[in-house]
Amino acid sequence: MNVLILNCGSSSVKYQLIDSTAKKKLAGGVVERIGMSGATLTNVRYDGDEIKIVGEIVDHTIAIEYILAMLLSRNHGVISDKSDIHAVGHRVVHGGETFSGSVLITKDVIRTLRENIELAPLHNPHNIRGIEACESNLPGIPQVGVFDTAFHQRMPKKAYLYGIPYSLYTQYKIRRYGFHGTSHRYVADRAAQMLSRDLSALRVITCHLGNGCSMAAVQGGVSVDTSMGFTPLEGLLMGTRSGDLDTSVILHLMAKEGLTINEATTLLNKHSGLQGISGISSDMREIVTEMNNGDKKATWAFEVFCYRVKKYVGAYAAAMGGVDALVFTGGIGENSADVRKACCEGLGFMGIEVDDALNTSADREKSISRPGSQAAVLVIPTNEELVIALDTVEIVEKLKKG
Ligand code: ADP
Repeated sequence: MNVLILNCGSSSVKYQLIDSTAKKKLAGGVVERIGMSGATLTNVRYDGDEIKIVGEIVDHTIAIEYILAMLLSRNHGVISDKSDIHAVGHRVVHGGETFSGSVLITKDVIRTLRENIELAPLHNPHNIRGIEACESNLPGIPQVGVFDTAFHQRMPKKAYLYGIPYSLYTQYKIRRYGFHGTSHRYVADRAAQMLSRDLSALRVITCHLGNGCSMAAVQGGVSVDTSMGFTPLEGLLMGTRSGDLDTSVILHLMAKEGLTINEATTLLNKHSGLQGISGISSDMREIVTEMNNGDKKATWAFEVFCYRVKKYVGAYAAAMGGVDALVFTGGIGENSADVRKACCEGLGFMGIEVDDALNTSADREKSISRPGSQAAVLVIPTNEELVIALDTVEIVEKLKKG
């Protein structure tokens, strides 16, 4: 089955066409600057053929028209007819408390997504736009929603309630939701495969370290706690987000500097994190380079980042009564041996020991723990698109069987 995977942002649509039977990516790319001048579509085919075109792409419907035209194009395409796309899988950011798994998109689901817009005002409207654009461009093709929040929906109440009046939870649904669920789920599954163990018997701590960063405690295949919260702002230090912060700090700053709600939101989401501390960059590669050049602020940014990960490893090991595997994924987790080493430094007392040679080897997917150490430390490239494709196929197959 060929599944078109879509990740619709405010001004971009990322896509992949996946042959789910062969687990092979046929093509993938991104439409950027939707609704702006100089909008582009960049497409890369499985054989490496790459093309970038500039067009007038005013909205998501046109963006999806461009994507389909590219997939069908004689010189750069991979299919000969629209009917070669058998299903569409959407990455949807927020499923609220309604969706604890992937679902076939129906009118009712779209209505619920609209109701959840308040929980994810920056994301869900674009996801809905993408779904509607597919309805008009690919009529009758089944669409499936795969939610970033779903994997964390089985967290116990003690992990998701905040220490504020309970009525605010019932009235406004203020609680921990957690994000990056598809990635945490994929790498936890893959960790069990790599260790030839049953996931139901494992305590896995997963670290998704990319531009956004989050960790999850996965016990017996269930996410029992995670570091992102009501929004993706909580938890680890990130490229430009603060992560955990005494909430009084922001109230204090709003009073001192007369910040509006929007300004405070921008400060915490766009000017904090690695960027905020270092004053140099949100990109971990530049932070490491400048740290090696002796820059103090870059060093502090690196240290705060890694120390925060380490604290969560301790917390999640405590939550699960131990840890069998610690997994690194995401752009930083997959690529930075320096970060992995610093996050695990001094954790030998809990059976986490990293082997320097394995940590710096060129393999993409690997075990980096010292042979014989109690807990496995693994590096696993995430593959959210594959999870979305496989979930989509499962739901569409069920639908066919009636
Ligand atoms: P997103 O969260 O947007 O999907 P990624 O998972 O691709 O992002 O991660 C992007 C981050 O990965 C950037 O901060 C970049 O610094 C980091 N990164 C990529 N390669 C390396 C590397 N070799 N060393 C350190 N950090 C890296």
